[in-house]
Amino acid sequence: MIAEGVSSLQKIAVIGRGTAGSLAAASVSKLHPNPDHTLHHIYDSKIPVIGVGEGGWPTLVTQLHELTGLPYDTIQKRLRGTRKYGIQYEGWGCLNQDFTHYFSPQQLRYSYHLSADFVTEILQQATRAEHIDLKVQSVSKMDDKAVIEFIDGSSETYDLVLDARGFPKELDLEEHILIDYIPTNTAIIRRCPPIVKEEGDQPYIHPTYTRAVARPHGWVFVIPLVAHTSYGYIFNRDVSDISDVESDFDQLLDSDQVKEFEQRAVIPFPNFVHRHMYEGPIARVGNAGAFMEPLEATAIVSAQLQIGLVLHMRFNRDNKFLFTDAPMVNKFLINTMMGYGLFVGWHYSCGSKYTTDFWRHAREKVWPRHRNLARPNVTGSGAFKKFDQMFDLLKQPVLTKEDWEKKCGVPVSSYAQTSQGLGCYPPSP
Ligand SMILES: Cc1cc2nc3c(=O)[nH]c(=O)nc-3n(C[C@H](O)[C@H](O)[C@H](O)COP(=O)(O)OP(=O)(O)OC[C@H]3O[C@@H](n4cnc5c(N)ncnc54)[C@H](O)[C@@H]3O)c2cc1C
Repeated sequence: MIAEGVSSLQKIAVIGRGTAGSLAAASVSKLHPNPDHTLHHIYDSKIPVIGVGEGGWPTLVTQLHELTGLPYDTIQKRLRGTRKYGIQYEGWGCLNQDFTHYFSPQQLRYSYHLSADFVTEILQQATRAEHIDLKVQSVSKMDDKAVIEFIDGSSETYDLVLDARGFPKELDLEEHILIDYIPTNTAIIRRCPPIVKEEGDQPYIHPTYTRAVARPHGWVFVIPLVAHTSYGYIFNRDVSDISDVESDFDQLLDSDQVKEFEQRAVIPFPNFVHRHMYEGPIARVGNAGAFMEPLEATAIVSAQLQIGLVLHMRFNRDNKFLFTDAPMVNKFLINTMMGYGLFVGWHYSCGSKYTTDFWRHAREKVWPRHRNLARPNVTGSGAFKKFDQMFDLLKQPVLTKEDWEKKCGVPVSSYAQTSQGLGCYPPSP
């Protein structure tokens, strides 16, 4: 039986060929119940993809397998990947202890550390689409359709446009909810030699973790792939001088005995959630829909959720429900992304082993703002209430199985691990 929404979803466009756009195009190709649909995959090859995003959440493992049809080992090898079981925090919180945030169930579920270049490659090979290399000028709604205007003056009308054009050029309070209780806004990326090696033809199966190392100007991620090790220093360019950050980065590499590196990029980033991720004929996905600093690697998993939910609704719901469903779906997406934002910002609430300008700024000025900035009347989101509920749950003497399932962005088990690790236990937001 053909699903209810399919007849009104014959012509689809995906804009963007980064991780989010590639995931969206492969998802349409694989999941569309009608093989005769039209899919235009549109991108401007002169606008580069961001090219970072090397840590995922466990659902990525099964999703890549389902979309590509490739065996798990083949996917991991093609991604030059390793198995990520969680994040190891070094120097965070007030207990002067290191701790790990494991995926749940602990030491059983894993995601990939993956090469951003190769994940788009395997997804593109799983996509059946007409490719259009042309700059998009604008995307707008016209009744239940979306119209794309191209730079050459031409235009095309679609039943659904998945817009994955990356970060917005600038933030606009009408369009974006700012996550101003996250204290960082810039990354320096360095690529270093690999510290893990495949043996023969087999993928590297030993557990690996993303390291999140607190540093005087912020923190550094260390992601082990078999092709290289990625280091990224995340800091605030309004608080720290970039030359001081570079010099502290050198010191960390020195202490890790890394002898050489390739300087890859300096990337400014916004922390925000789009107020209209889903509007019916238009969905904004990936970095176009929401972004927050990469501490908990929430971007690819956000794109998975945005794309999965939008396609599920559009395939399965009759078109007459399009504009009544859209606000509910949009609200659910906003709540989830805001939940990620609160979880990430909260990591700074107990400071770190450093008492530098950055950590004072993060702990004393930026995080306390969340009480005002995340209020439902500012954001239209119920995430703040759910965030408080996570801490209420952790104060209970016993949790029921039902409680274990509760989430604010991430499950209550993630809040428990992090609050014990940071040293804010009994927990408080
Ligand atoms: C420092 C850092 C570390 C990160 N680490 C992680 C991590 O560990 N895990 C994680 O999940 N995420 C991470 N991310 C997020 C990561 O960026 C995203 O997961 C991912 O790359 C999604 O990018 P995107 O596809 O949305 O956009 P992009 O990669 O920016 O792609 C945009 C695409 O749109 C096209 N385009 C843009 N404008 C136009 C136009 N006008 N017309 C036509 N085409 C256009 C471009 O050509 C390009 O193909 C990190 C981000 C940063 C900054």
